[in-house]
Amino acid sequence: MKIGILGDIHANAEALRAVVEAVRREGVDCWVQVGDIVGYGPEPSACIDIVRELGCITCMGNHDAAVLDRLDTSYFNNFARAAIHWTRARLRPEDFEFLGSLQLVVRRPEFTVVHGTMHLPEQFGYVISPVEALDSLDHQDTPLCFVGHSHVPAIYLRRDVAPDDIRVVPHSEAEISYRGFDKVLMNVGSVGQPRDEDPRAAFGIVDTELQIASIRRVPYDITAVQRKILAAGLPEVLANRLSLGV
Ligand code: ZN
Repeated sequence: MKIGILGDIHANAEALRAVVEAVRREGVDCWVQVGDIVGYGPEPSACIDIVRELGCITCMGNHDAAVLDRLDTSYFNNFARAAIHWTRARLRPEDFEFLGSLQLVVRRPEFTVVHGTMHLPEQFGYVISPVEALDSLDHQDTPLCFVGHSHVPAIYLRRDVAPDDIRVVPHSEAEISYRGFDKVLMNVGSVGQPRDEDPRAAFGIVDTELQIASIRRVPYDITAVQRKILAAGLPEVLANRLSLGV
C-alpha cells in the first residue's frame, strides 16, 4: 500500500493543490490528513472541499477544534486567534459539520493518525524531539503513526527490542528505509505553513511493501496566497512568514 500524507494545510489552497498534484503523480492507494485544515490561511472552505473529495483519512487538529469552539483560544497567539475568528465567521454549515465529525485519533490496521501526540491527543502537545517521540511511541500500537502540529518534518524509528534507542531522521526532505524497525512515528511537516525555514510545501509518502518513508517538498505560488491573505484582511505576518518558511 502506498500512502500519501498531508498535514497542517491551514487554509492554503495554493499549496494544497500543488501537493495534491505531486501526490497524484506518485499514484497512492490511500490519502491521510493529520489535522489543521483551517486556520491562518484565506481559503478554509476550498481546502475542506479538497480534503473531502480526496477521501482523506482525517483527524482533528487544534485549529479545527478552536474554530468549533472546542478549544480555548487564549492558548493561541494573537495572530492565530485573529485567524480563528476570521475563519469561524466564514465557514459554511457543511464545513462546521465536517470538522465536527473528526476524531482526535483515527486507527487503521497499518497506521494511526493524530495531530499532536499519541499519549495526550486532547492536549495537542508537540513531537519535536526524541523525548516526546518516546512517550508517543509508547502509546502507538500500529506499525506507523502520522502526526503534524509542529510544522517541522521528522521521522522517528524504534525497535521493540531497544525501545529507548530511537533513531531520528530530522531532515526537511528525506527518504528512508524502515526495514528492521517495528515502529515509525512520522511528522509529515506542513502543507500550508512550513516552519523549518524551507518555504516549500511538505508532505509524506509511505510505501508499506517496500518499507520506505519519504518526506517530500514541492514549490507553490507563495505570492498568490500572500495576496489572498492581505485581501482577506488577515494579519500581514501570516503572509510574510510563508516566504521565509517560519
Ligand atoms: Zn498547525
